[in-house]
Amino acid sequence: MNIPKTSFPRIVIIGGGFAGISIAKGLKNKEVQVVLLDKHNYHTFQPLLYQVSTGGLEPDSIAYPIRKVLKGYSNFFFRLANVEEIRTGENTIVTNIGSLEYDYLVIATGSETNYYGNREIEINSMAMKTIPQSLNLRSLILENFEQALLTDQYHERDALMNFVIVGGGPTGVELAGALAEIKKGILPKDYPDLDTRRVQIHIIQSGDRILKEMSEKASQKAEDFLEGLGVQIWKNTRVTGYDGKTVTTDTDVDFETATLVWAAGVKGVEIKGLNAKDLLVGGSRIPVDEFNKVKGHNNIFAVGDVACMQTEATPKGHPMMAQPALQQGRNLGENLVRLLENKPLEPFVYRDKGSMATIGRNKAVVDMKNIRFQGVFAWFVWMFVHLFFLIGFRNRMVVFVNWVYNYVRFDREARLIIRPFNRNYNAFKD
Ligand SMILES: Cc1cc2nc3c(=O)[nH]c(=O)nc-3n(C[C@H](O)[C@H](O)[C@H](O)COP(=O)(O)OP(=O)(O)OC[C@H]3O[C@@H](n4cnc5c(N)ncnc54)[C@H](O)[C@@H]3O)c2cc1C
Repeated sequence: MNIPKTSFPRIVIIGGGFAGISIAKGLKNKEVQVVLLDKHNYHTFQPLLYQVSTGGLEPDSIAYPIRKVLKGYSNFFFRLANVEEIRTGENTIVTNIGSLEYDYLVIATGSETNYYGNREIEINSMAMKTIPQSLNLRSLILENFEQALLTDQYHERDALMNFVIVGGGPTGVELAGALAEIKKGILPKDYPDLDTRRVQIHIIQSGDRILKEMSEKASQKAEDFLEGLGVQIWKNTRVTGYDGKTVTTDTDVDFETATLVWAAGVKGVEIKGLNAKDLLVGGSRIPVDEFNKVKGHNNIFAVGDVACMQTEATPKGHPMMAQPALQQGRNLGENLVRLLENKPLEPFVYRDKGSMATIGRNKAVVDMKNIRFQGVFAWFVWMFVHLFFLIGFRNRMVVFVNWVYNYVRFDREARLIIRPFNRNYNAFKD
């Protein structure tokens, strides 16, 4: 990897997501050598991926070059690398561009889509965890309408204009809200020769309410908002299969669709080594102590989505969300400095700042510690918070200007098929 040896201890961080970047910031200009590795050369702001999928934002506005984050940091090295294995006995990681020894290792690899072992769904459905996946979804949505124009068979058309989202968490809810806005404001103008009133948007949720991590009030309000926008919500329904044409469930309902979006769960990104099979807890997460130290290892830490810090208050670990990742990253960055200065470490204390979701124009739900609200004000709060946490002044400005433009013009101009998804539509033809 061509990284010089120095007298400073080497800290290797795998992953430049919320947690990895937050640790790096804490180690700026300290007496350490930091090597940050990521398989992408950019940081992704995942909470706005659904806006890329629905043409509301260009992908560049929610991505930020990792090298730019580290600009001006002394003793910092970034390498574009996919980490394939951790050899704990040799204090070494193995990547696609070579091996590297570490004194301290931080695993901040985040999470990936969890299909719960259903290979058929994995192959045929669309995920929305990365920018390339969001661009695929954007292309597919638009290609479906182009394809729907080419047939006079109602049955085929309906399947192409049917959107099924599995998972009623914030991702599913926000995507459904955005699709409903497109149906109302954009499709009738773009496709005057299609009866876009027949477009259907379904959310399938295995539990008895959507946004189940939020308050019942927020769930109910989100449901009302979505139903007002024409979204159909199927609760207590579990998807069992999707062959690329028909979605089957454990009830007597099934759906014909060219688009199944799987937003029903995530699991930690596993890397070979680290006795993973013995170590991992629910959701493929790595158990850590209150200092984010991986159980059984003195110089390996895990943070963010991939880490599971089980305490009395958090028996299943912290929520797999941006705030725990950012806060754990900040605490670990400070703790690594303390460790090297032989000072006692500070245990991680999570400050829950609440959660929120938006359901299209003027509509959002916000649950904070002592206050819960919904509607237009919640929508402004949602926008402000997302702008605040985006990395980079340019990105904030671009997103802000886009939102104002889209709001005033009822538009989403990034509805472009730049990189076709090229789905095979043969199954829908009679
Ligand atoms: C669609 C969507 C919407 C979301 N909305 C919200 C929201 O509204 N609010 C909220 O709080 N949270 C939201 N989240 C969750 C939030 O984005 C995550 O909790 C957060 O990104 C976790 O941060 P992290 O640093 O642990 O991982 P990530 O941010 O995922 O970063 C992990 C990094 O590791 C890199 N990586 C992984 N494996 C390797 C490897 N083997 N080698 C090299 N690099 C590797 C990845 O490229 C990535 O850059 C959303 C997530 C998604 C997918």
